[in-house]
Amino acid sequence: MFIPERMCVSCRQRKPKNQLIRIVKNNDIAKIDQNKKETSRAIYVCKDIQCIEKLKRNKALNKFLGCDGSEDLYNSLKKEIK
Ligand SMILES: [Zn+2]
Repeated sequence: MFIPERMCVSCRQRKPKNQLIRIVKNNDIAKIDQNKKETSRAIYVCKDIQCIEKLKRNKALNKFLGCDGSEDLYNSLKKEIK
């Protein structure tokens, strides 16, 4: 089956969607799109601790989604890669 590629906002590499975590903005809060059904604006980040740390450092959520990432979000992101 063909898996569409998306770009990680941290390392800017294109990867198949299933190797990335999708983050969406919902009611002005950035959250992980668990069911992949949210149609709102989304960004992708690798399931990689370095990309997640960089996401936080670069304030990529503010840049691309226009909202802050909570500590909760970053903690859940880190859980996703374990
Ligand atoms: Zn990455």
